[in-house]
Amino acid sequence: MNYRDVFGEILADHHESPRNWGSLPGCTRVEQGYNPLCGDKVAISLLVEKDTVGNERLSRCTFEGEGCSICMASASIMSEMIQGKSLVDVRSLIEGFREKMQGADSVTALPTEDSGEDITALYGVKRFPVRIKCALLPWTTLKKGLEAVHAE
Ligand code: ZN
Repeated sequence: MNYRDVFGEILADHHESPRNWGSLPGCTRVEQGYNPLCGDKVAISLLVEKDTVGNERLSRCTFEGEGCSICMASASIMSEMIQGKSLVDVRSLIEGFREKMQGADSVTALPTEDSGEDITALYGVKRFPVRIKCALLPWTTLKKGLEAVHAE
């Protein structure tokens, strides 16, 4: 079966043209994530800086990795959403996504057209429970990376 037909145009596009791909010289931290169920590997580079009023922001975030199409599309979508956001906002996005993917609410249908929010395409992955961990990996890796920045 064709990937586009199963997961839709949005995920296929992010998989084929990943946003914010690459390493990030001078970054605050690189966090590695691994999903043994599928073999997905992702490395997320974070640049955390204080803004003019002293709030910490994720000034820049890039990723690299080798993984299935779901994992790579999820990392690409995540990287677009969190760019430049405050760490408070980034944490609440991570938590909201995790709840959506692991929560008991009904399975969301794949959007048939571009809703303007690519993340909604990821909710459709809930129809394939073994792939949920693939979609979550970049987000849990980002979370670990942010925690480590604070431990330093
Ligand atoms: Zn995977």
